[in-house]
Amino acid sequence: MNVPFADLKMLHAPINSELNDAIQEVIETVSFIGTPNNTFVQKFESEFAAFLGIKHCIACANGTDALELALRAIDLRADEEVIVPARTWIATSEAVTYAGGKVVFVDVDENGLLDWRLLEQLITSKTRAIIPVHLYGLPCEMDEILDIAHKHHLIVIEDSAQAHGATYKGKCVGTLGDFGTFSFFPGKNLGGFGDAGGIVCHSDEYAQKVKKLANHGRLGKFDHELEGRNSRMDGIQAGILSVKLPFLANWNIERRAAAEKYRECLVGTSLNLPNDTIDAMHVYHLFVVEIEARDDVRQQLKEVGIDTGIHYPMALPFLSAYKYLNHSHQDFPSAYRQMSRVLSLPIFPGITDNQIEYVTESLIKSLNLTQRARRGNISVPS
Ligand SMILES: *Cc1c(COP(=O)(O)O)cnc(C)c1O
Repeated sequence: MNVPFADLKMLHAPINSELNDAIQEVIETVSFIGTPNNTFVQKFESEFAAFLGIKHCIACANGTDALELALRAIDLRADEEVIVPARTWIATSEAVTYAGGKVVFVDVDENGLLDWRLLEQLITSKTRAIIPVHLYGLPCEMDEILDIAHKHHLIVIEDSAQAHGATYKGKCVGTLGDFGTFSFFPGKNLGGFGDAGGIVCHSDEYAQKVKKLANHGRLGKFDHELEGRNSRMDGIQAGILSVKLPFLANWNIERRAAAEKYRECLVGTSLNLPNDTIDAMHVYHLFVVEIEARDDVRQQLKEVGIDTGIHYPMALPFLSAYKYLNHSHQDFPSAYRQMSRVLSLPIFPGITDNQIEYVTESLIKSLNLTQRARRGNISVPS
């Protein structure tokens, strides 16, 4: 049996004609960009804001820009620091540098999420913002993070690129901090047919600022009040996202059902399995387990037709890009330990019970093999 890591073709098949119609409509109305008031983009912005339960959504070109635009909207200064978790996609920290600030990494908890217990010792007079990342679709412990942020007058930008529709105490992530940022990269829980992103916020002032920054500093045609940049969502992506948005809640339910099935099938193992927390509802952008002999197990799964992923093989402070910060492994013990152990199992809306059973049976076989090999100090047959 072959189990793909994800299956976008299958996801889109039942709504193919609606998707084609949306694209056709953009072509017929010549609404490709149509700045600053593209009807397709405006429609998606208000639909996504309503879905999350927040006043403003400003569409932009991708999730990395979303982070950078939020940081620019607060007028980050060159000497100001932004705290970012050690384990996330590099976009989170890149945005800080590109917005002109300084990256400060914080280690993660046992779920791979920013560990709020370590925040206060990192806060200095230069600290301006914190970017919690709802990694894999699991919301961070936002009350604790927000309490610390308020106490020190810090801005909170929730990187929600992997967590569309995930909730914390019943509220959608992205709506809890000063800003929420989203990516609509095709493989995310809600994705277009190319790059796209969005920033959400409650504040009218911030919304106006982000909107200007994302479109050459203007709201009308030539009224450039400041220098911005080109970070726009195009009409076709917006049209596609409007077709897909009504399905998001159900797709998340399917992801959650698949996770439940994984937990049932892996109940006898010693693996620590992803789950909701008391306050947080997970939307399983990824289903990540930690395995000591990760690379051997991954190879064995590949040989029996199962695609897996590693998110991410290197924690950010250890990448060459951050060599200048001179960190050692001891600075981020959890991130360091997790990066050699994490394995993402296939999960996507429409994955079948049969496929999950096949993955888990194969995984258990492989775990037993590698354990025996380690105990007996013999090489693992591949
Ligand atoms: C995907 C992702 C981004 C960046 O989004 P793009 O649309 O690819 O620019 C940022 N942060 C996290 C955590 C992501 O997973």
